[in-house]
Amino acid sequence: MALGEFELIARYFDRASPRGDVLLGVGDDAALLEVPAGQALVAATDTLVEGRHFLPGTDPDSVGHQALAVNLSDLAAMGATPAWSLLSLSLPAADEAWLEGFARGFHRLAGRYGVALVGGDTVRGPLVITVEVLGFVETALALRRRGARPGDLLFVSGWPGEAAAGLRQLLAPGSGSVDPALLRRLRYAEPRIELGRGLRGVATAAMDVSDGLLGDLARLCSASGVGAVVELDSLPLSPALKAAFALGDCERLVLQGGDDYELLFCVPAARSEAVAALATPSCPLTCIGRIETGAGVRGLRHGLEVPIAEGGYDHFRPAP
Ligand code: ADP
Ligand code: MG
Repeated sequence: MALGEFELIARYFDRASPRGDVLLGVGDDAALLEVPAGQALVAATDTLVEGRHFLPGTDPDSVGHQALAVNLSDLAAMGATPAWSLLSLSLPAADEAWLEGFARGFHRLAGRYGVALVGGDTVRGPLVITVEVLGFVETALALRRRGARPGDLLFVSGWPGEAAAGLRQLLAPGSGSVDPALLRRLRYAEPRIELGRGLRGVATAAMDVSDGLLGDLARLCSASGVGAVVELDSLPLSPALKAAFALGDCERLVLQGGDDYELLFCVPAARSEAVAALATPSCPLTCIGRIETGAGVRGLRHGLEVPIAEGGYDHFRPAP
């Protein structure tokens, strides 16, 4: 490597911390962080592998954004406030143009949420990026997957299906027409941090949708020991989605497409006004069904039960 490991870290990743609670950041053997009294530390990590989570040649700015965004989404789903991150990079070479773009995308998103990069690891190898994020939440208010109760309304944020639609267009043979708005959903997920914080004390259960709405909903249901009904007529089909795909495809993309990073959450009907107050133009909240006793997920169209395909993305199971 023309650029040495320590030079690389100093140039792209050792930034002054925007936070007073970082007692020691990049440069020592480990970081020293001050957790606010009375709060639980919330920790999550996610790995992006080139060729599996992003296509070779993807704009490094978006890879940097996405590596942090998918982790922040996990904290959002817990109702947590993000504070710190660690970054482990395995790089085939010290490619400065790539590092420049990656660091730009990473630090831009980190700056927006006041997240300090406090450490990491840098090694040579295939292109693999692992980020860990740490944050905090009042222990009693943390949102979990378990907690949904029969009768709760089921909501989803934003526009599920758009990221998968962008990927579908990108991979279509001779893809000339990729809607930039859909592509942006795939490349620059918006972690729903504000929404997650607003749902503390409101939602009975929550999770982020990364592997497809139906498959993730089934996991929430099994964690809560309940079943769910999804009203297919109520699914939010975005204008961009409807412009690009036939209705049946739109529905499949919303229900089964991955990479949404929206929040799926359950709320007692009596609290639905609190949910309405959390919706914004860039983050609409749609009631798509309700929780019921039993197990599994049922689909209803015009009040009649219809079969719906389950199953989301699973790294170790062949696609059906
Ligand atoms: P060690 O040998 O103790 O593992 P390293 O030599 O790997 O430490 O790293 C030196 C310092 O740089 C440590 O504080 C580490 O946390 C930090 N660091 C290494 N790689 C990165 C990175 N990609 N981003 C941020 N900090 C990093
Ligand atoms: Mg190291």
